[in-house]
Amino acid sequence: MSAAVSYERVRDHLDELGLEAALQHLDAILERGQKAELLPVEILDELLSRELAARFERRVNTNLKLAGLPAHTTLESFDYEAQPQVPRETIEELASLRFLHQGENVILLGPPGVGKTHLACGLALKAIERGHRAYFLSLHDLVTKARVSRERNRLHNLMRTLQRPDVLLIDEMGFLPLKAEDATLLFEVVNKRYQRGKSIILTSNKSYGQWDEIFPDPVQVTAVLDRLLHHATTINIRGESYRLRHRREAGLKLN
Ligand code: ADP
Ligand code: MG
Repeated sequence: MSAAVSYERVRDHLDELGLEAALQHLDAILERGQKAELLPVEILDELLSRELAARFERRVNTNLKLAGLPAHTTLESFDYEAQPQVPRETIEELASLRFLHQGENVILLGPPGVGKTHLACGLALKAIERGHRAYFLSLHDLVTKARVSRERNRLHNLMRTLQRPDVLLIDEMGFLPLKAEDATLLFEVVNKRYQRGKSIILTSNKSYGQWDEIFPDPVQVTAVLDRLLHHATTINIRGESYRLRHRREAGLKLN
């Protein structure tokens, strides 16, 4: 078979197999192979690596969309000097994602505006960049979704959505007290993920001692905290709101 025929067949095969990136880079890789006198196996390696890299990038982009992060705030853009209560070493350790591989939880506590959601999203972004699946929702979203799901008899679908991601983010726990059925659902989510060794990142403006105000049943608070805290890092931020402080420092009048 002539080289030209083989070349055409390779193009067709790559196309049929859906190896788009390999097809796209075929000519350049063959040319480089010739110039650099690469071995056939090196050429194959390069071609397949290209394809895998492109697939990984696609997966990351898809996961990023599915995660529903409210903001793409990064850990790198977090100003530690403005918030000395946030231990940089702890955040850097979390950024290694060891917590996720070990199914541990991260709980960020503190008043509004201190960067809880910022850090939670930053950690989620790190996980997504490395190919993991994340899913973000506020506790309020969760309650709304649960109501809609119940009406449609689809609670099992919602449960699956909440179990599937490698890391589940539950934001703003504590802004509203939960009804009994929602508290039970939340317990089930926490419990199932705990049993499967899957991480949760949770933010709350209430300290653990105040979680009684969120759950109608004190036994449930104990049960939820028991699972959540078994393997967890808690970051307690007691500082001042970042935005308010910036406004104050800029000398603007607060109202
Ligand atoms: P919280 O979730 O604790 O209410 P956010 O994470 O929403 O607070 O932070 C409020 C705003 O201030 C966001 O835009 C966030 O990016 C920013 N912010 C808060 N703390 C910091 C910080 N230390 N460095 C940089 N930006 C910050
Ligand atoms: Mg927040």
